[in-house]
Amino acid sequence: MRSVLLRFQEALRERGWDGAVIASPESLSSTNLRYLSGFTGSSAYLVVSTENAWLLTDSRYLQQASVEAGDCEVLEQGVHVAASIARICREHGIFTLGWEDDKVPVRLFKEWLDTIPVVWRPLDHLIEELRLIKTSEEIDAIRRAAQIAGAALMEVLGNLVGRREIDVALDLEVAMRRLGAESLAFPTIVASGERGALPHAHPTDRVIRSGELATIDYGAQVEGYKSDETVTVATGPIPADLRRVWMVVKQAQTQAIATIRPGMSSRDVDEAARNVIRRAGYGDAFGHGTGHGVGLDIHEAPFASPNSSYERPLEAGMTITVEPGVYLAKIGGVRLEDTFVVTPTGFERLTIVRKSLSFLIRRTVVRRNFCAAICRGIRGQHYPNDVAAGSGCAGTATTHQLVD
Ligand code: ZN
Ligand code: ZN
Repeated sequence: MRSVLLRFQEALRERGWDGAVIASPESLSSTNLRYLSGFTGSSAYLVVSTENAWLLTDSRYLQQASVEAGDCEVLEQGVHVAASIARICREHGIFTLGWEDDKVPVRLFKEWLDTIPVVWRPLDHLIEELRLIKTSEEIDAIRRAAQIAGAALMEVLGNLVGRREIDVALDLEVAMRRLGAESLAFPTIVASGERGALPHAHPTDRVIRSGELATIDYGAQVEGYKSDETVTVATGPIPADLRRVWMVVKQAQTQAIATIRPGMSSRDVDEAARNVIRRAGYGDAFGHGTGHGVGLDIHEAPFASPNSSYERPLEAGMTITVEPGVYLAKIGGVRLEDTFVVTPTGFERLTIVRKSLSFLIRRTVVRRNFCAAICRGIRGQHYPNDVAAGSGCAGTATTHQLVD
């Protein structure tokens, strides 16, 4: 049986409950149902007792469910799902039933109250608590998603200037799919120039120019598990004040990463980043939390936030992003984000792209200097400054070298 389902049943036993019901109809898609059962379809109900599990779904998914949810007895849900759940409870001596009090709509719960004669107990995020600590299979999936996403980003980073944000997003998304992502982790964010001040900007038809910042927040999904990473790169030499902002955010991220280990709290991670940004005078320009867990959902516990109600100790097996940002209205913004898994001794970084401001500048110079023919191809001329700098771009196809 799936180890996570066994852990859930053990938790039910500890509470002295007979079972729980997890509802994930079309209108209420729940990753908790997938987590416990393995079923990936869009509509199902899961009834778990301390010994068994039943997955109720409609005729579209019966075959799929019997393959994916191998630990569950798969049943057709019938016209009246609540009556089917009531029958399972009656036949298997389930008198106390947990329910997801933060998810089930009032209307559905009223129907259950009328139809299923049990004592109801709120699950109070019990499944989310189990999901906090990832299994090695879960971490493998997130790691693969992050590697695919990073490799895809490398393909598009060299080709930003003169292109629309939406085209860059599309290229990145296609590359992620081509490299093995089953889907995107979330809608890609590409925000260039002054639009970088919008933390969750949707890509637009704005053309990315040389000499500005571009923020790309993106992720891939593998086996339901998501990756999350943000880069902010300069598309050419940028003004000193923007460069300073980038350096402050980089420093904030570095300080926050250094706090990740068991025993520290999620709030310590936030504080480390926030202190750097505050000291640099940008405290008001960093409005969101520093990080969050990643798994089947893109945002899940633990949360690295200044809000103490989210505070919890870090434990090995938790994932957490570190994503400080500074957003200056009408000017631009910077966010740098990596995803980590907490290990017994510290952390492992799952995202693979090095956070470098000048990544793109270097790439451009490299290409520009690659040979005379390419110089002509890109800009129609050679670069005397490069020759002066000793880069070897002397206007022939044979004399070239990397400057970096
Ligand atoms: Zn992100
Ligand atoms: Zn994030």
